[in-house]
Amino acid sequence: MFEKDLYIGYEDFLIERPFDFSLHSSIGCGGCAKIAFYPRSEDELIALLSRLESEGRRYLVVGNLTNVLPSDLGTDKAVVCTKKLNAIKRISESLVYAESGILSGALLDFLRREGLEGAEFLSGIPCTLGGALYMNAGVSGAYMQTLVENVRIYSGGRVQTLTNGDCAYAYKDSVFMQGGRVIIGATLRLKESSPDKVFIRQREYIQKRVRLPKGKSMGCVFKNTQSAPAGELIDKAGLKGMRVGGAIVSKEHANFIINDKKATAREIKSLITLVKNAVYAQYGVCLEEEIRYLE
Ligand SMILES: Cc1cc2nc3c(=O)[nH]c(=O)nc-3n(C[C@H](O)[C@H](O)[C@H](O)COP(=O)(O)OP(=O)(O)OC[C@H]3O[C@@H](n4cnc5c(N)ncnc54)[C@H](O)[C@@H]3O)c2cc1C
Repeated sequence: MFEKDLYIGYEDFLIERPFDFSLHSSIGCGGCAKIAFYPRSEDELIALLSRLESEGRRYLVVGNLTNVLPSDLGTDKAVVCTKKLNAIKRISESLVYAESGILSGALLDFLRREGLEGAEFLSGIPCTLGGALYMNAGVSGAYMQTLVENVRIYSGGRVQTLTNGDCAYAYKDSVFMQGGRVIIGATLRLKESSPDKVFIRQREYIQKRVRLPKGKSMGCVFKNTQSAPAGELIDKAGLKGMRVGGAIVSKEHANFIINDKKATAREIKSLITLVKNAVYAQYGVCLEEEIRYLE
């Protein structure tokens, strides 16, 4: 083992080694990283990132791994998983500060108890707050950008606060995709309401999702296009049920790829390429991935 792989002096951090992507990702594939860290507080996160950077170690940050395709080879980077960084507090009538690793379910429970409305669209999206802020996650025209007051980040060795405008939000796009920014947490702006009303709205969103495909997936693989939803184009191109190895284009929702038979990341990637080529050949539309490739 190389000295660099040893991570001596990191014993105070909560560590998992190896970190098996096939066990942690919603798509259920991928190799391993040698090590993953689970910072439990903002201070711990900053201490960890500063240390990794000062030692020239490369790292990648993940939340709940529900929109990523890990590589079969895993990664030689250290994984920083935010899931233990999950504090939340109400800071005024309509503002809530939450750390990036809080899961959508816990965030929504808190908001329901506090009677705060506006984030119900996250119901059923299996994300952390950080992943949702990065992806500008959402559904039916409601996206994270509508909630963000500001985002606390670690970048270039410093903690900074970005305004909503600084986040450069657009459809499934944000400044975070340019790299170099770790989301520590965010202040979200909500509307005062009542727990009952919030509960009903959360349930409505959950009910709209009952027909989404079951099984291991990354949610929607492709972004919708100007001309049509990606799923509609894939469906019309006759690609539902198309298979490469253990990966299949869902028969219920063509924008989902399901890992139903121990697919490798390579097989999933090949299926993505086949879908893109077929849609381009039939409609002249170049589908763009929504999912992120982890390497
Ligand atoms: C069944 C299913 C249904 C889904 N439905 C929807 C839906 O309706 N709408 C929707 O928008 N999405 C949906 N998704 C996709 C996914 O849940 C969202 O994109 C979500 O926002 C990803 O969050 P995550 O915590 O899993 O992020 P991850 O998948 O862990 O990460 C996504 C990206 O964000 C980066 N990242 C994560 N945390 C941080 C951080 N703290 N700082 C910097 N970078 C970070 C990662 O490096 C990665 O590039 C669905 C997925 C599944 C499996």
